[in-house]
Amino acid sequence: MDSGIRLAAMKAEQLAVPGVRALTPYLPGKPISELERELGLCNIVKLASNENPLGPSPKALEAARRALSEIHLYPDGSGFELKAALSAKLDVRPEQITLGNGSNDILELVARVFLSAESKAIYSEHAFAVYPIVTQAVGAKAAVAPAHDGSRGPRYGHDLQGMAQRVDESTRVVFIANPNNPTGTYLTKSELRSFLDDLPADVVAVVDEAYFEYVEAPDYPDCMAWLSDFPNLIVTRTFSKAYGLAGLRVGYAVSSPSIADLLNRVRQPFNVNSPALEAAKAALDDNEHLSRSVNLNRAGLLQLYDALAERKLSFIRSVGNFVTIDIAKPAAPIYDALLRQGVIVRPIGNYGLPNHLRVTVGTEEENRIFLDALDRVLAL
Ligand SMILES: *Cc1c(COP(=O)(O)O)cnc(C)c1O
Repeated sequence: MDSGIRLAAMKAEQLAVPGVRALTPYLPGKPISELERELGLCNIVKLASNENPLGPSPKALEAARRALSEIHLYPDGSGFELKAALSAKLDVRPEQITLGNGSNDILELVARVFLSAESKAIYSEHAFAVYPIVTQAVGAKAAVAPAHDGSRGPRYGHDLQGMAQRVDESTRVVFIANPNNPTGTYLTKSELRSFLDDLPADVVAVVDEAYFEYVEAPDYPDCMAWLSDFPNLIVTRTFSKAYGLAGLRVGYAVSSPSIADLLNRVRQPFNVNSPALEAAKAALDDNEHLSRSVNLNRAGLLQLYDALAERKLSFIRSVGNFVTIDIAKPAAPIYDALLRQGVIVRPIGNYGLPNHLRVTVGTEEENRIFLDALDRVLAL
């Protein structure tokens, strides 16, 4: 039998490594163009992927445009200039920085460097969906710590004690989202610090700070300051959220130089493209756009909180740019009905929260359009 026929006779499924066979793909927010195609709607409002409603800094856009004239050349695979800018801004050395094609890329690099079929990763219930994906893809085991039930910490938030209890000799990585998506909950400086103090030195702690720039809680930690105390700490951040560059795919990790060296060994040499490198560097320079984004988000969160409370809907208090709402009944039909109203939000049944919807904070007008659509849908 020729090999093509043999392959067809065998299901491709059986050829895949066991971790991949057990994977469920990441479910992204529905793109606007897809809803336009499906329902023939226009003026769609997308509040589904925690994107910045103001878009990117005009300076970042201009830098990306300028970079287009050189896209026949490979990008600088070392990301020298962006690393230099980050190094100055964050007060770390360039050798501590690893650039990623989004911070999801970094999470995957971490899994490939530190996890295997013999080891285990720990993360929380309701934590960001990419942790199970990167863990399973390399065949590693996962221990999921139940989230707080509200008695000892914010309900739905990470229970660090429960996570610490799951650490054993095979544990190599702990993923911590601070704040967490989709719950919007955060860990305080003192609780996270004491967790890291007690974590064995042979376990790598990944603190995912994708929403760092938005957080204004006074007891929220800046883990960057702890890197010199913990050679096993990796802090990840992104340009996708507050910086409004989700489509360009650029994020980064800051760690000890030796961890950065390991991450760089498995990194694709040109993982961040040249318009992304240039736009990210320019975005770092536009503090005014960043504060406008943070201010808009603060006002939008309050607008949504007030409106939800008026409607007697409960929600999880968030320090990010999204709110997760308890619909108190299966949320999937509400999500579908909102789509028909031209509003895309995020159902989060795959996060173990089938009665909740996650809504990104939009502009004042977008928030109002969402609330009006929600009123119509809930009245049906
Ligand atoms: C959005 C998000 C990310 C990163 O996304 P990238 O676009 O890949 O940088 C990482 N972690 C969490 C918790 C997120 O919500």
